[in-house]
Amino acid sequence: MFLSDDKERIRQAVNIVDLASAYLQLHSKGPIFKALCPWHDDHDPSLQINPNRQSYKCWVCGEGGDIFSFLMKMENISFPEAVRMLANRAGIMLEETSGPHASGKSNRVSEEKTALYELCQWAADQFHRCLMHSPEGEPGRLYLDRRGITEASMQQFQLGYSPLAWDWLVNKADKRFSPQLLEMAGLVAKRRQGNGVYDRFRGRALFPIRDMQGRPIAFGGRILPQFDSEHPAKYINSPETLLFNKSKTLYGLDVARTSITQTKQVIVTEGYTDCLMAHQFGVSQAVAVLGTALTEQHLPTLRGYAEQIYLVLDGDEAGRQRSEDLLALFIAHQMDLRILTLPENLDPCEFLLESGADAFRKEVEAAPDALEYQFQLAAKSKSAGVYAANTALDRLLHTLALAPRSASQSSQTAYQMKETQILQRAATAFQMDEMLLRKRLSELRQNRGQNKARLAKRESDARVQEPPLPIWEQELFELILTEPTLIYEVKESGLGQELSHPRTKNFWQLCEFLLSENRATDFSTFLLYTEDPAGKRILVDLDENAQRKSHLDAKARLQGMIRFREEQRRSSDWPKLRQSVQQNHLNEADSLAILQQMLHQKRSHTRQLPSE
Ligand SMILES: [Zn+2]
Repeated sequence: MFLSDDKERIRQAVNIVDLASAYLQLHSKGPIFKALCPWHDDHDPSLQINPNRQSYKCWVCGEGGDIFSFLMKMENISFPEAVRMLANRAGIMLEETSGPHASGKSNRVSEEKTALYELCQWAADQFHRCLMHSPEGEPGRLYLDRRGITEASMQQFQLGYSPLAWDWLVNKADKRFSPQLLEMAGLVAKRRQGNGVYDRFRGRALFPIRDMQGRPIAFGGRILPQFDSEHPAKYINSPETLLFNKSKTLYGLDVARTSITQTKQVIVTEGYTDCLMAHQFGVSQAVAVLGTALTEQHLPTLRGYAEQIYLVLDGDEAGRQRSEDLLALFIAHQMDLRILTLPENLDPCEFLLESGADAFRKEVEAAPDALEYQFQLAAKSKSAGVYAANTALDRLLHTLALAPRSASQSSQTAYQMKETQILQRAATAFQMDEMLLRKRLSELRQNRGQNKARLAKRESDARVQEPPLPIWEQELFELILTEPTLIYEVKESGLGQELSHPRTKNFWQLCEFLLSENRATDFSTFLLYTEDPAGKRILVDLDENAQRKSHLDAKARLQGMIRFREEQRRSSDWPKLRQSVQQNHLNEADSLAILQQMLHQKRSHTRQLPSE
């Protein structure tokens, strides 16, 4: 639980435009900013950042909120973590209280995360010091030196060394960090027999894997060649932990981020040393995947920074297979992917050491785009027989069929030109009629469209949605957001007690609380006190609607609403009244009075229906 003053100070200190631009490429458009929405497959910037309201909203998928929910979603963290991160960013010291609203589970998780960050940083320091200064680190230094890694790189990437022992780190951690925490961080493993734990990394050069803020969250270890025989795995990574998600994280992104943002290019390599060597040679937009292929989960991160993605592949068959799956993925997302294969199947590390940075840059510039690459693969397969050739051609058509048709006009045309060109060349290369290829392509595209529609339907059926707000309840809060001073009239009218939706009931409780604290019931205060992202999203929707109707007279609208609700309230009593009149439970005078009253209400009801 945080003091609301702290949250308020954070809100004032952190501009949503600055925050969002650290993650997304923003284009200014009049008073607002636009970006590709990271939460749906966006091709035409639909996310709007509104500096005036300090809010964001996607007009396609409906995501919306403020700085807190933005960070929660981008970093996949809880509200308290987002508050802490933003406070750090703004240099604000937090006063935390353990109030009744503090949620036990998310608190525990964020405490565990804090402890894990501390432990990983500590471990990275231990390994690094061992490598750089300790006699025990000698084998590690010799190895990295032989691989051509300079001392400056060892510093920049905080490389380390773990001596060949079962308990080197365990002993150092004694009393400072519990074995449970060491295990949670993936630094040790449980012994198979008996109690206790042992070091996961033994006799390895270590590459700390750091998050976007440069904090170590996991480790990758390369076994030294002299210990190779006893330890079969050349490279091992930390297992996945609370901090570390292998298929989302990119090695080196913390170091490469600035350069990627400047060049709009990212070079994705397959190993730590490739990435590190690229930086050592001044190719500073390089990152590495972590023992997996590039996956769909990496795309939002990459897309936030770069326009062109260069994937460096080694030439083996596995790499080729992976690349074909990837092509499909990138083409379906309409991202500019280029495939870089180095001469003689060298990996980037070897190539850079042999030929230098300029030669490497030339290779990068000449890298074919994804479609071109697949065409070349297909054309090469011709020599492998009819079956292989047909399969390759069909794969090429499948990939072509993946490109979405509904993208923005300009990229569509460029893509269609590319498609036509590839089809013509394929027709020539495989000696086939271009029209036949086109026919097959449009069949594939149709099938795909049908499958997609079926899938979308299933998804929307499965999604359990919060029921929509009743119209008048929505309208009421739009009015309060438009004109916060109306809150007194609303309170007077008793409308707050008639709300039926859990969200609006919550908002009303908040109103009463703010009134009792003598605070404004305006949009930013509402956002500040609503911690859950779904609530923030609804508030942004309400605020957007409110702004669109701001030319209407808010006071008159409220009065109309109050009258309307009164009528509804009375008319809902009619059936009961009519029943008692009919059943003669009342004396004559009472019955007459009631009938007259009902008649009067009915007249005024028809007369006074609000105009909206
Ligand atoms: Zn969206």
